[in-house]
Amino acid sequence: MKSYRHLYGPVPSRRLGRSLGIDLVPHKICTYDCVYCQIGSTKEKTLIRKEYIPVKEVLEEVRRFLKEDISSIDHLSLTGSGEPTLHSQIRLVIEGIKTITSIPIAVITNGSLLYEEGVRKDLLGADIVLPSLDAVSSEVFLRINRPCSGLSIEKVIEGLVEFRKGYKGQIWLEILFCKGVNDHKEELLKIKEAIDRIQPDCIHLNTVVRPPSEEWAGPLNQKEMEEIQAFLGEKAFIISEFGRHPSSMRERDIKEEILKILRRRPLSLADLSKGMGIPLNQLSQYIEPLTQAGEIRSRIFGESIYYEIGEEQRK
Ligand code: SF4
Repeated sequence: MKSYRHLYGPVPSRRLGRSLGIDLVPHKICTYDCVYCQIGSTKEKTLIRKEYIPVKEVLEEVRRFLKEDISSIDHLSLTGSGEPTLHSQIRLVIEGIKTITSIPIAVITNGSLLYEEGVRKDLLGADIVLPSLDAVSSEVFLRINRPCSGLSIEKVIEGLVEFRKGYKGQIWLEILFCKGVNDHKEELLKIKEAIDRIQPDCIHLNTVVRPPSEEWAGPLNQKEMEEIQAFLGEKAFIISEFGRHPSSMRERDIKEEILKILRRRPLSLADLSKGMGIPLNQLSQYIEPLTQAGEIRSRIFGESIYYEIGEEQRK
């Protein structure tokens, strides 16, 4: 990957399978300066959209990569070390990639600019949009995301609600919890109300698992995360250990995660895929050996096949 300036990976991502990252803005240009940010504090906090990186350069690199690398890629992810929607020509990047390949495009964004109609339109061509929402009350928003002046949480939420109305692809909303900041009951109630309005396809719950920008930003434990998951309902899945920005995940972690989820309840392959954010074809590669080894087993119920934990794993 040495000869690529704007691509990284492909990395195995829990949510997106084997994902080729496309970095659309220079390092740490963002609308937020989140206390948990794993890539350090924001160098330039801005709401100004620009063609930070020439579209032509990005498309040339994608074209070259797909010619040179014949290994399979599950998604092309517009993300990186800043906020990708700050790139004023992101729509042209998406449209350009669509003329090169049919590999699905995911946009990992903090969602802060979706209040602008132009930004919402720019993302319509993406297959999956993964916005974040860590707070609903202004006080918590200012504390955890430390937004650029001019941004309010009301605006951000309205943007997400409006985006849902016009966007036909999948929306996977991510909430990252910091101990003592956004995990109290009143905030959780407000988050639940906001989710009801936004209507994402699923909700990914995360906590601080990598060294954060601010040392005081601490993680929730597994029990606390599970309580929040139960409170937010069926669409919510815990994905801690996943970094919001460029990251990798080992194969062993995926297997362990499958076992951990199935220990709680039997799920169909489609549910498991949606919850873990791993494409069906990639997930099958893990399910088969686990079934053969007896670590999990399948069971037909109604018209679906469910997977549950095997006898050995129950002991
Ligand atoms: S976590 Fe993402 S949204 Fe937050 S400051 Fe870092 S780059 Fe920006």
